[in-house]
Amino acid sequence: MQYLSTRGDAPFLNFGDVLLEGLAIDGGLYLPEEWPSLTVENITANLNSERGYVDVAVEVLKPFTSDSLNQFELKELATRAYESFTHPEIIPLKELGSNTWLLELFHGPTLAFKDVALQLVGQLFDYELAKRKERITIVGATSGDTGSAAIDACRDRPTIDIVILHPHGRTSEVQRRQMTTVQSPNVHNVAIEGTFDDCQDLVKAMFLDTKFRNEQNLSAINSINWARVMAQTVYYWWASISLRPSDNQIDFSVPSGNFGNIFAGYSSHLMGLEVSKFIVGTNQNEVLNRFFQSGSMAATSVVPTLSPSMDIQIPSNFERLLFEMRQRDGSKVKNTLAEFRRSGELTILPAELTEIQKKWSSARIDDDRTLRTIAEIYKETGELVDPHTAVGIAAGKEKRSSEQIPLVCLGTAHPGKFPEAVIKATGKKPELPNQFHDLYERTEHYSVLPNDYDIVKSHIEKAVQG
Ligand SMILES: *Cc1c(COP(=O)(O)O)cnc(C)c1O
Repeated sequence: MQYLSTRGDAPFLNFGDVLLEGLAIDGGLYLPEEWPSLTVENITANLNSERGYVDVAVEVLKPFTSDSLNQFELKELATRAYESFTHPEIIPLKELGSNTWLLELFHGPTLAFKDVALQLVGQLFDYELAKRKERITIVGATSGDTGSAAIDACRDRPTIDIVILHPHGRTSEVQRRQMTTVQSPNVHNVAIEGTFDDCQDLVKAMFLDTKFRNEQNLSAINSINWARVMAQTVYYWWASISLRPSDNQIDFSVPSGNFGNIFAGYSSHLMGLEVSKFIVGTNQNEVLNRFFQSGSMAATSVVPTLSPSMDIQIPSNFERLLFEMRQRDGSKVKNTLAEFRRSGELTILPAELTEIQKKWSSARIDDDRTLRTIAEIYKETGELVDPHTAVGIAAGKEKRSSEQIPLVCLGTAHPGKFPEAVIKATGKKPELPNQFHDLYERTEHYSVLPNDYDIVKSHIEKAVQG
């Protein structure tokens, strides 16, 4: 299968190249040249008695990856990726009552849904690099969550060095320790004396430094990488197979920030999965909510909320939906985005809005309602949910098609990762799973460096394996 750019001005690439490239050279994002066609019935027919998550993953992903690896290799990589998940079902589906379900995506090593994609992407990177006899240095900046998921996915891989910059003293202690207590010679944590934006600027400068970029074979695994979206399509099929509602209709509600997770759901639908509604939950940073309500998107400044992983200004994966809305015409996408950069506003036609609202709806859930939702779920079911998950549940309950159609809400983080909000809402302290019992006793490894490009660069040159 070949992949094309959403801006129509980059070469078509095969899977291995798309995996390692990330962003297309025209600034666009890669998507499959055409969507493979699948149904729940096809998948279950191929599975016979084995119906575990890994088996479903192989069925869903093989058309996307077959240029690069065969079905048996894919199965081996997926098996290894999901061995690190602590729940026997990997991604369990729990009933919350009233035909409402919670899809728990947070049983991976760093307790957030990003592990589902990154654990597999780490395996795919290592496989592809070993085949090419290459090595890379992944650099990234984090304000907390993504860094730990990326580190865990890349640790102990001989083909990869990973360097993560975080703002010194500005992440929570749990977040910092999840990154800095990883003992692996290819993991390099750097605390920058500055803000998250300073960290991001340093990373950008590295990518613009052609000599350094080429010498280090720099790479990124941020959320625009197609392989991450691809890996996330699996659990939409998995939930549908597990529920198998008689007429196959399902609503999915997804707490959204960069729009990668819910776009993966829409990708499954474009492949053939029956979905009656996609419900986008946002916090007070409601750029996406405003778009789905009014057809207009305007950048504003970010306000901090109880669901920090969704405090995002411009949802980068939105470009992929725009490409599909515009009949996959890259030049139209390019023009619309150029206009957005110029005016700070993006507006679609009324007819396009009517069309989009047939499948999509959205709600803005503020911090108060998030807390009330956490309290309500606890009272009704005894389950503690994290604030991101609560945003999705509240949006889903408000916008679902009907109680006859199952509503699947995506659980994106373990409640133990955001204890303050959960305690505030319920008075109960969510426990961290067992594997973290000694997190506070483990030795940390990180270097504190000034916000200075040359110093950071020479530190990286010395630290990586070479
Ligand atoms: C990243 C993240 C989100 C947002 O997902 P997107 O794919 O960026 O829309 C939601 N919840 C949690 C816990 C996250 O870490």
